[in-house]
Amino acid sequence: MLQKDSDIAIVGGGAWGLSTALHLTRAGFSRITIYERAEAIPSPYSAAYDLNKIVRAEYEDPFYTKLALEAIEGWKTPLFGPHYHQTGYVVAATGQAPPKAVEHLEKALSTIEQDPVFSPGIKRLNGAKDFKEYTWQYSGPLTGFKGYFNRLAGYAHSSNTLQAIWEHVSTIGVRTYLGEQAGRVVGLVYEQQKKRCVGVRTADGKVHSADVVICALGAHGASLIPELGRSVVARSWSVAHVQLSEREADFLRGIPTTNVRDLGFFFEPDPKTRLFKLCPLGIGYTNTGKNGISLPPSDVLPPPQDFIPKDDELKLRQLLRETFPWMADRPFVDQRLCWFADTRDSDYCVDYVPNTDNSLICLSGDSGHGFKMMPVFGKWVVQLLGEGRQTEQRWQWRASTGTDANWGNSVSWRIGEGAELSDLIEAKSKLLRARL
Ligand SMILES: Cc1cc2nc3c(=O)[nH]c(=O)nc-3n(C[C@H](O)[C@H](O)[C@H](O)COP(=O)(O)OP(=O)(O)OC[C@H]3O[C@@H](n4cnc5c(N)ncnc54)[C@H](O)[C@@H]3O)c2cc1C
Repeated sequence: MLQKDSDIAIVGGGAWGLSTALHLTRAGFSRITIYERAEAIPSPYSAAYDLNKIVRAEYEDPFYTKLALEAIEGWKTPLFGPHYHQTGYVVAATGQAPPKAVEHLEKALSTIEQDPVFSPGIKRLNGAKDFKEYTWQYSGPLTGFKGYFNRLAGYAHSSNTLQAIWEHVSTIGVRTYLGEQAGRVVGLVYEQQKKRCVGVRTADGKVHSADVVICALGAHGASLIPELGRSVVARSWSVAHVQLSEREADFLRGIPTTNVRDLGFFFEPDPKTRLFKLCPLGIGYTNTGKNGISLPPSDVLPPPQDFIPKDDELKLRQLLRETFPWMADRPFVDQRLCWFADTRDSDYCVDYVPNTDNSLICLSGDSGHGFKMMPVFGKWVVQLLGEGRQTEQRWQWRASTGTDANWGNSVSWRIGEGAELSDLIEAKSKLLRARL
């Protein structure tokens, strides 16, 4: 049985690892160590190494709606509050949207539309005039736009949140090993023919013992727990930015987070850098190795993916033409592919790895919707470590979810076609060669 002074190793100081450290300290655990491969937190390898992430509670599935509602309460506390911006959330589908996008919008809206907390802040929007009433700055045609505004949502500054929570847990006794040598875990240490995980080995060759090891590696999970690669796929989405002037950033201050389900989403500009972040909505891209497991190309930074695919660029330019046409032909800066851990049904994995005698916990499968849960996520890990050692049924470890790796297209909330990173790099090189 775990004691309050048992040694707990958390591998990965991203959104879920930090939340876990926070809730473990709140539950009275006193010997917690985080191992993080980056030189500082926020880590550039984290999916949350970013200006902002959407915080909203509408889901197709009321199970996550309930959890996200709790998380939003957490975002409004003094620790998380400075990083949460309740700008409201505009969700739309254009007149050209495929039925899948409209269906998803309607299903997600139905989980909050009748909720007494949300309903006063929800307004259905039909046509450009309705949308412009909520966001007077939209100057594009908003062709055929239909959707809604939800007041109780917005975004959080994700890099700043990671840094703040790391600083907070450090001041209350959580130790951190950082960097490619001292912080990068290259192997888990087992005893009794792999029965029990008894610690971690870092790249500097040191072995650190632990009573329980918690892996929170995001898209990199299968690098330490290879079996995970049979149910969780490292996948990436594109991120791009437009550099705005001070005047332009002031003009867009306070706009609602806007998600056009068949094109992409954007946020109010970051006040410090004046970067306006955009993400296209799509299936995303995998990097499948010969063993059939997809992992991010993590050994080089910046990785060979400091670009976004042409189709994504076209989607974003179309999004801007519909909303802010004055920005539509601006250069995109800081373009990159950002990696997350994806599951077939978008359910998380929060469980013990089987046959490890409850010594190894795997936190994975965020499926691109895990950041918003940061204020509450660690609570679920504390529950898992408690008496019953039970997780939600849907978050249990799964041995495999089938062999057809190409299930990305069937996820209800994503539109388009997926691709392999190698094909994208090849297409980019061809384009460059053609231009020479
Ligand atoms: C483009 C994009 C947009 C997204 N938008 C949203 C959104 O709007 N709302 C939302 O809720 N979620 C969003 N997400 C998902 C969200 O970012 C993730 O759910 C969240 O970051 C998952 O947290 P994590 O701790 O599991 O992984 P991460 O945050 O990725 O952290 C993993 C950590 O492990 C470290 N690590 C890796 N390997 C090692 C090793 N060997 N040794 C030590 N450390 C290691 C990494 O450096 C990193 O710090 C988005 C994701 C992407 C990619």
